[in-house]
Amino acid sequence: MIDLHSHTDQSDGTFTPRELVAQAKRVGLGALAITDHDTFAGYDAALPLAVEAQLELICGIELSTRFHGASLHLLGYFPVAAPSRELRVWLNELLATRRDRNVRLIAKLQSLGLDITLEEVEKQGRTLTGRPHFARVLVEKGYANDLQHAFDEYLDESAPGYVDRKEVPVEEAIRRVRESGGIASMAHPVRVAKNNWEKLGVWVGELAGFGMQAIEVLHSDHAPESRAYYQSLADRYSLAVTGGSDFHGGNKPNISLGTGIRGNLKVPYDLLERLRVLAA
Ligand code: AMP
Ligand code: FE
Ligand code: FE
Ligand code: ZN
Repeated sequence: MIDLHSHTDQSDGTFTPRELVAQAKRVGLGALAITDHDTFAGYDAALPLAVEAQLELICGIELSTRFHGASLHLLGYFPVAAPSRELRVWLNELLATRRDRNVRLIAKLQSLGLDITLEEVEKQGRTLTGRPHFARVLVEKGYANDLQHAFDEYLDESAPGYVDRKEVPVEEAIRRVRESGGIASMAHPVRVAKNNWEKLGVWVGELAGFGMQAIEVLHSDHAPESRAYYQSLADRYSLAVTGGSDFHGGNKPNISLGTGIRGNLKVPYDLLERLRVLAA
């Protein structure tokens, strides 16, 4: 069993890289990919610890991109060689646009009458401060009962506190991942095209045309019949299959590393072999 989708506290997870490596060993993973949002900081910190623990660690990333006017999460995997310097420089630029968004988000929340400062929120984050960190502060301050309510009432795209962030066009993100030796995979297709399967099929074809080489068929939030449909799309467009829990520690407490929600996940090792062949 492997897990190709996980987050550390360097993005919006709550486990440190050390704790995540320890957890991967505890549940017996054959390989783990760290796919933090917009940063390799968690992977970089985990790598020497994984070597020491004899855990196979795969370098990954999760990027928020723009496609057909909506947000699309794209996973990037580097199973053969480390990502390029150029990609790291570009990620630093993305982090800067996040900071700009966070400044505007604080102003928006303050204009709604909330007592919240950027300093408080940034204290929650490490390399990256994202909306889950805002949610945590809103809960701590009593503005919401739990993290989900903080999103529903303030931070979700449809909520009054929402502010836009400039997201990169998906074709640019796919190109940059490929140019630095990586494989791009569509993250959690259940959140794409509002679950309109016909539209999703057309969109996956377009993304394959942009150079996307894989799709995340296996994910904690995917029902069995959805997985079967995503697998048929992988077959239709000759895409590799990826899979993972999307573990965020205490920020998504119902999801377990490796096994998903109440044991609904089991990702076989041979998926990783195929990624390696593609990346070589
Ligand atoms: P950000 O990249 O800072 O805009 O934050 C996006 C992250 O917030 C996502 O990766 C999710 O983990 C979380 N998120 C976004 N929308 C929601 C929502 N409606 N409910 C719960 N979590 C959400
Ligand atoms: Fe996340
Ligand atoms: Fe995601
Ligand atoms: Zn994720």
